[in-house]
Amino acid sequence: MSQNEKLIVTDIDRPVLTPPEGHKKVLLHSCCAPCSGEVMEAMLASGIDYTIYFYNPNIHPHKEYMLRKEENLRFAEKFGIPFVDKDDDYENDRKEWFELAKGMEFEPERGIRCTMCFDMRFVKAAQYAHDNGFPVFTSSLGISRWKDMKQINGCGHRAADLFDDVVYWDFNWRKSGGSARMIEISKRENFYQQEYCGCAYSLRDSNKHRKSQGRIPIKIGKLYYGDESTIYEPQAIKVDK
Ligand code: SF4
Repeated sequence: MSQNEKLIVTDIDRPVLTPPEGHKKVLLHSCCAPCSGEVMEAMLASGIDYTIYFYNPNIHPHKEYMLRKEENLRFAEKFGIPFVDKDDDYENDRKEWFELAKGMEFEPERGIRCTMCFDMRFVKAAQYAHDNGFPVFTSSLGISRWKDMKQINGCGHRAADLFDDVVYWDFNWRKSGGSARMIEISKRENFYQQEYCGCAYSLRDSNKHRKSQGRIPIKIGKLYYGDESTIYEPQAIKVDK
């Protein structure tokens, strides 16, 4: 089938994707269900054999981590996609993340703390790809418009360069309607809607920003895409300044 031919999976019309060097086996580092939903469906539509790799010790607190993981697992099970839940050493990985972030606690999003955070997760993904016969790895992180794709791709290539037999697929998942489909799928699947990037510092900074706007702090586990009854934003409240 040529690159220009179309395939239809679920009810969405998409171009056929080809991973680097024509490989058909891919390890997908996934950060959450909303970001990976479109990536997963796009790869399924192209007949790509992929496995999800969930490794995100940056996510804080544990309740939020579990919510994001379980949503992602639920969606993977729906399609029968293999899901590697890499949290066998969760407590140590979490401690390591905080160690690596020392001195960067007040860095802004898209800054050096985020480079560290992507590097940590991608090196682990690349290692898993190398150890388990995946010639290609990619990530759902780049689909978010809040992220710097150049920064993410730099981290992905750097991690893959550590191994002779692994390449990073820097496909722009946002293009050709990918960003809009990410939201459509999230609403259709009623995914949990996280309201901050993931780490303790992004939670702190998001709440600080909300407070400056007179908004209530983030309530973990409350907001779901497509469920109007749980949408509590925007909601102005009086706060101490
Ligand atoms: S803001 Fe997001 S990408 Fe940056 S360090 Fe925190 S969790 Fe990682």
